[in-house]
Amino acid sequence: MSSTLQTFKDKRVLTAISVALITLLLLLFVFLRDDSRTITSRQLDILIKKDLIRKSQLKDGYLYVKSAKHLYKIPKDVVDMKKFASMYPVEYAKSYLNIYFILIVSILAISTLLYLLILRKNKSDDVVILKSPETSVSPTAESVSEKIEPIVSNVTFKDVAGMKETKEELSEIVDFLKNPSKYTKVDIKLPKGVLLAGPPGVGKTHIAKAVAGEVGVPFFYQSGASIVEIYVGMGAKRVHELFEEARKHAPSVIFIDEIDAIGKTRGSLGNDEREATLNQLLTEMDGFDSDSAVLVIAATNRVEMLDEALLRPGRFDRRVHIPLPNRDDRAEILNLYLKNKRHHADISKLAVMTIGFSSAALSTLVNEAALHAMREGRKEIFMTDFVSVIDKVISGKRRILNLSDEEKQIEAVYQSGKALVATWVDIPYEMIGLSNTIFADEERSIQSKSDYFNMLMVYLAGTAATEAKYGQRYSIAADDLKRAKELAYKMVEEYSMGESIFPDKKEAEDLMVKALEEVTAMLAKLESVRKDIANYLLTHENIKQEEARELLRGLF
Ligand code: ADP
Repeated sequence: MSSTLQTFKDKRVLTAISVALITLLLLLFVFLRDDSRTITSRQLDILIKKDLIRKSQLKDGYLYVKSAKHLYKIPKDVVDMKKFASMYPVEYAKSYLNIYFILIVSILAISTLLYLLILRKNKSDDVVILKSPETSVSPTAESVSEKIEPIVSNVTFKDVAGMKETKEELSEIVDFLKNPSKYTKVDIKLPKGVLLAGPPGVGKTHIAKAVAGEVGVPFFYQSGASIVEIYVGMGAKRVHELFEEARKHAPSVIFIDEIDAIGKTRGSLGNDEREATLNQLLTEMDGFDSDSAVLVIAATNRVEMLDEALLRPGRFDRRVHIPLPNRDDRAEILNLYLKNKRHHADISKLAVMTIGFSSAALSTLVNEAALHAMREGRKEIFMTDFVSVIDKVISGKRRILNLSDEEKQIEAVYQSGKALVATWVDIPYEMIGLSNTIFADEERSIQSKSDYFNMLMVYLAGTAATEAKYGQRYSIAADDLKRAKELAYKMVEEYSMGESIFPDKKEAEDLMVKALEEVTAMLAKLESVRKDIANYLLTHENIKQEEARELLRGLF
């Protein structure tokens, strides 16, 4: 009997311990489970850009950000915490709180169990059944997809400073959306897609919003990167839903930011997911007839990366380059940002100082200067405030921003070589400059070996120019050299434009050496014009092909 009792007691203790442990685990799981999704810094940027962040917390080496619906985390080391903290308040949670929390929960759980067991002991041998807490532990099937909803844009063209040419190009489309019958009567169709190409922060999103705002139609924003990164496995569906919603709200404007994330050239390393998304986008664009009055505006800063299919007629056949603002544009933009602020800034001087700044960078500059003035206890912004913060705004921005006079000279020599050679060999460009280079759209689909060779010379012209002038090469050539190498490989490997049909790598190198020799000889002959172009660049920042041609004519 006593042994039976002993067994009985052991069983009880065992049950009690196991139930206690399970409950403890359950509770720990419920309270401590980290149901946040890890995101990339790109995705964080999207959350910031769309202003979705409601709360943020730094804990255990991670930055946790909460949107209205979800919790995300990202290793803090990949985030520019200073910048982030300047935009959102960040709570600092210490992780030892968790340890106390675990301790308290454990003590509570064990004492509850013991209490229950003692109570039951006197009643029956029934197994103690503890109901698991209401907050079920089954992972909630959270959907990451947010409803597609348009916004009403209150931006109009008058809120867009500078960008005169872009506004002109887009105003026709605005007029079309406003008075479709005027155009359809004479059988003119609304272009389906407009591609805005230009570096980050120049106002691609801003002007797209202005188009929607001018016409007074709903504006659908979607970032290509978020389709690929957040809606993993659902990209195509997302694209379909986006178009469906836009059609329901037609006339409307869809804006796809960073379209290169879905529209990259489909290389040999195919990514099925992205390809399906891209195909869906193409299908949607082909699918709607022009009467449906949905305008798709896409933005990219890497137009050369885009899949050709996107650029075919009936898709993004309107292309608008948006360069970094020039001096006059910068003055206009600064004027706009400073309009409602009390200041004593010399705007034209500031415009000169801010070469290479995008609109976004100018906006940050004005903001930082205003903060600086405030910290000094002043209500008015002085030039000294701008000077004090300009370096801070520059850091991490384009190299061109903080060039010393000597560096500017080198850049001018480099770019003048490029502009001169491109003009001489007739490679069309819109502008070449200290901060901007835009080659014209190359519409031709058949390119000859000499076309490519000319392009190769243009890529190498800057290097040749600095070598001739200073006897050495500079790091500013990196991008052009990369392009030159890619082109040389493509020429020999894809088009067999080297010596043999089945070439070895050496042939690409031979091509480059030859191009460099030729371009060096060409520049030696045209040195005086190169100097003129360099001087022109030092005063005007950019040169258009027509202007370079004019200087070249002076030679004869
Ligand atoms: P992008 O889409 O090219 O990266 P955005 O359109 O997001 O750039 O612009 C960045 C910031 O600069 C935004 O706050 C926008 O309002 C402002 N901005 C850009 N261009 C202009 C402009 N031309 N006039 C006034 N504000 C501008």
